[in-house]
Amino acid sequence: MRVVLALAFLILSASCVRDEEQKAEFFVFGTIVEVKLWGVSKSDASLAFSELQQLFQGMHRDWHAWEPGQLTGINQDFANGRVANADEAIVEMVLRSQVIEEKSGGRFNPAIGGLINLWGFHTSDYPIEGPPPTQTQINALLDLGPSSRDIRINGLQMHSDNPAVQLDFGGIAKGYAVDLSINLLRKLGIHNAMVNAGGDLRAMGSHGNRPWLVAVRKPGGGNIGSVEVRGDEAIFTSGNYERFRQDQSQRYAHILDPRTGWPATDIASVTVISSEGLLADAAATALVVAGLDDWPEVASALNLDQVAVVDESGTVFLTTAMEHRIKFSENVRRVVVDTPVNAR
Ligand code: ADP
Ligand code: MG
Repeated sequence: MRVVLALAFLILSASCVRDEEQKAEFFVFGTIVEVKLWGVSKSDASLAFSELQQLFQGMHRDWHAWEPGQLTGINQDFANGRVANADEAIVEMVLRSQVIEEKSGGRFNPAIGGLINLWGFHTSDYPIEGPPPTQTQINALLDLGPSSRDIRINGLQMHSDNPAVQLDFGGIAKGYAVDLSINLLRKLGIHNAMVNAGGDLRAMGSHGNRPWLVAVRKPGGGNIGSVEVRGDEAIFTSGNYERFRQDQSQRYAHILDPRTGWPATDIASVTVISSEGLLADAAATALVVAGLDDWPEVASALNLDQVAVVDESGTVFLTTAMEHRIKFSENVRRVVVDTPVNAR
């Protein structure tokens, strides 16, 4: 996912679907974000929707990786060795990213904006066509070793010891956006809600007398199955099947392995359930990079117990805890893999 282009429009539609369900759609990050509230009056709902709209508009403006705004300004400051001023949300994303980058062994690294741009992924016009960058171009950026851990933070000021650090929050922004949305709704006294950005979501409470129900997306369309949300939790899927570069028959995913500078390969998608959107989103990206061999170890390092990984043939590898959560569609091949976290 990425923080995308077009201005965070308006509420596309706001309607009262049922007496007790209030629904609105927003366009942000190149995706439609659907918000559903349950058991809230029409007037409370419209106040909540207008506050959410402002929140989304701010994120869109401030977190964009290539359209001029707060983040591009910070990246310029980093490149020029200057101290950058940031707001709390960006500082929080950097702090959290530093920990996730370390725990994931560098598989999640939001400082590789330069590489992402080199691959042409600073666009919302997918698929991109044409050959990949050359190894020489890739090496030139890799050798500079950008890492979120090069950033020193002092209050709301940041400085990068490495001028090659270019922040790109594409792997984390949707997650943090749903967290901030849920926090805002809660502050407004709303406790039954779902914020859904194209299948990546966080929900709390229930939908009346039944839980919120979520479909788990399958690479290439359709669903693996469904999950009933428990309490307050986030469900995120990252994959190599929606945004990519196509060079004749070769496909290059928009998720890059920061250690090699090349796109992640053998996993088609990863779904993570966690209490927080930010962690679920970043982790899903990290686990795509980890690949079929390493994902259980990286999931443990990130302290995640609910993970499902789909390979290119459609087989689902999943933790025991995740197996208990998904109600599978018919004929889904699955293999339970115990991770150290599960075994505890
Ligand atoms: P999606 O939800 O579209 O499957 P992700 O949440 O995995 O995507 O985010 C992919 C985006 O994250 C890319 O478009 C890029 O902006 C950024 N990105 C790519 N590789 C990495 C990485 N290894 N670590 C952190 N961010 C990445
Ligand atoms: Mg992600």
